[in-house]
Amino acid sequence: MKPKAAIPCIRDICKVESLYKYNYETRTYRGEVSYVGYRTKVETERVTIGSSIIEMAYSKNDEMAVTNESNFFVCEACGYSDLDDTLFRKTKTLKHKNSSGFQCGNNLLKRFSLGYRFETDVLQLRFLSPDLSDYEQSISILHGLMRGICAELNIEQDEIAGCVQYYFNDITGRANSSMIFFDKTPGGAGHVRRLTEPGVVENVLRQTLRIMESCNCGGADKDSSCYQCLRNYYNQKYHDILSRGVVIDFIKELLE
Ligand SMILES: [Zn+2]
Ligand SMILES: [Zn+2]
Repeated sequence: MKPKAAIPCIRDICKVESLYKYNYETRTYRGEVSYVGYRTKVETERVTIGSSIIEMAYSKNDEMAVTNESNFFVCEACGYSDLDDTLFRKTKTLKHKNSSGFQCGNNLLKRFSLGYRFETDVLQLRFLSPDLSDYEQSISILHGLMRGICAELNIEQDEIAGCVQYYFNDITGRANSSMIFFDKTPGGAGHVRRLTEPGVVENVLRQTLRIMESCNCGGADKDSSCYQCLRNYYNQKYHDILSRGVVIDFIKELLE
């Protein structure tokens, strides 16, 4: 992933970098990937498998963004920073002194974030019917599909990545999760493009189902995940919500 341009919220790169090093040991930052989607020419295609309808949209050299939200609240007037793990808000109010020891005139501290954008090939997969509206269910299915994609395309788990983004599903009339997959190599390595070839998406679904069913974690109710099925180094922050049973149920419904 090649950093392309800084997101404008960065005010002081040096300060951010020193905070970022601090994070390396303490895991203060959490990287969040999102799809910017600035390409207007996106090839969209509908695939039907049995009675299921899936929509695919592929775009070359499209844009993704990575933002990292920290637990540091920073005063934009004097640079004072306060580490606070307990707040989820974007701002906090705190009286503080500046580096010269005088009371600072500004009490509003803002959560510090940094980020970058990069270009790569992007594939969106939307399950129009049956649809996907629950967030945790979507996360399990996203990571299950990535296992299936790697098996079908014979690639390693660090060659593609994905995220979930909302869209409005016209068929079911509600907010749904769109699965976004992208090549991690700058400019795209051609992996996600291969998913648009005929029959590949169905093969990915079958591979995913096979991998999820061949694991035995969680016993009979399958409400669990492990390194053999859904978990990997890159999805550590989701380990607690990943469930192979959720993936099995949804794909079986799709393939029926
Ligand atoms: Zn201040
Ligand atoms: Zn497992």
